[in-house]
Amino acid sequence: MAQIIDGKELAKTIRLSLKEKASEIKQRGIIPKLAVIMVGDDKASRIYVRNKSRACEEVGIEYEEYILNANIKIEELLELIDKLNVDDTIHGILVQSPLPNGLDANEAFKRIDEKKDVDGFNPINVGKLALNQDCFVSCTPYGIVKMLEAYNIKTEGMHAVIVGRSNIVGKPLIQCLLNKNCTVTVCHSKTKNISELTKQADILIATLGKPKFITKEMVKEGAVVIDVGINRLDDGKIVGDTDYENLLDKVSYITPVPGGVGPMTIAMLMNNVIKSASNK
Ligand code: NAP
Repeated sequence: MAQIIDGKELAKTIRLSLKEKASEIKQRGIIPKLAVIMVGDDKASRIYVRNKSRACEEVGIEYEEYILNANIKIEELLELIDKLNVDDTIHGILVQSPLPNGLDANEAFKRIDEKKDVDGFNPINVGKLALNQDCFVSCTPYGIVKMLEAYNIKTEGMHAVIVGRSNIVGKPLIQCLLNKNCTVTVCHSKTKNISELTKQADILIATLGKPKFITKEMVKEGAVVIDVGINRLDDGKIVGDTDYENLLDKVSYITPVPGGVGPMTIAMLMNNVIKSASNK
């Protein structure tokens, strides 16, 4: 029977230790602060943003939210980012994606000062991660690495197979796992015979946004399975990208959805804001 990787509990422990760090920083006269920019009124984004503000409150990070109209021009968004870049009281800037049609999120990410880029999406941080240099690491891949470390899961020499190549999860995860000495294979929608590859994985990461895509037949006995997906079914139930219940008696470790990768992503965002504030 698989051991469940309890992301919720681990994230709670991390937030507690960040709370201590936040109060140490405050004693130096620095109040950590995160600025979140939301454009339009995407329902899922509203939930994510609310979870981030709650986590800030718990850790002791000040939180400022900017909600912009869905039909603004990119220049207005960039102007706001410029203003926040030079505001010394702000240590982290985050632009919640997806942006409404017509606005290029990459333009926004590029404009955020690399030292305040707590999401790790600025090309400078992306490049530094590829070079294994100190940088802000994108929160979901970073959270996955922390989970593997916390559960003492061996990575060196292991074959990690990532299904999904998004800029925010799949691609930075390639670098994170290479830096942990894994041998990495990445699959995407044009990959042929995916199950031939997933069956070779010692560590399998599903980040494709397709409910229960990874079935029992697609995994190796004893594999470690990390499920990034968040999919809402017609009945309102949230499920991941793996057939969790049926994988339980075949794999060695698995993350649940919800309660796995999601809380760790937010904990790593908090970690990055505290890192930025303590760099001051
Ligand atoms: P995304 O931008 O939605 O892209 C999906 C990726 O999966 C693409 O690379 C796509 O390939 C690939 N893909 C789609 N269908 C496939 C198939 N049938 N076979 C193989 N590959 C396929 O990815 P994302 O942003 O990483 O999000 C993935 C899921 O994770 C979503 O459910 C999202 O809500 C969730 N998520 C969760 C968290 C968290 O904190 N828990 C954070 C971020 C995302 P192509 O590149 O060829 O199109």
